[in-house]
Amino acid sequence: MKISLAGLEHERGATRSFDFRKAAPKLFTSGGEEVKATAPLEVSGTITNTGSCFHVRGRISAKLELVCARCLERFSLEIEVPLAENYVKSHAQKAEEDWRTFYGDEIVLDEAVEEELNLNLPLRGLCGDNCQGLCPICGVNRNLEKCNCREERIDPRLAVLSQLMEQAPGGGGKDGST
Ligand SMILES: [Zn+2]
Ligand SMILES: [Zn+2]
Repeated sequence: MKISLAGLEHERGATRSFDFRKAAPKLFTSGGEEVKATAPLEVSGTITNTGSCFHVRGRISAKLELVCARCLERFSLEIEVPLAENYVKSHAQKAEEDWRTFYGDEIVLDEAVEEELNLNLPLRGLCGDNCQGLCPICGVNRNLEKCNCREERIDPRLAVLSQLMEQAPGGGGKDGST
């Protein structure tokens, strides 16, 4: 995703539009799970020479496949992320802190696009607000099936522990070790 600055570089106010389609980079939720893109990214917008920097404004559209945090099924999600960046030549003297730099006579958007996308991925995906999740006892997907498990809120690890304690001779385990 390279924008040539030819014809823009020396003219304050000069502007140009861009429109890219490109394979998505590796994406991760903030929980560290990899997110698969199911279509190329679409990145479009305009670049303007403001006199002090090149201002990029646009949007990134992505089609993603996520795993639902409750029922563990895959589902697809389309997101749109705004893009607003300022670029200055690498040796520019008056650059603001969050401005990006470029070399030569073209601006490469890939890094900004990847960062903005990763920042805007959902923290944890849900296939729907009313996803019923998995039964904590038998594990069925409660969106698809009903089970007859009693709704006791027992942590499955504790359930295993109490079974072990019932089996242990003399009902041991009082010292708390496992
Ligand atoms: Zn779900
Ligand atoms: Zn169940």
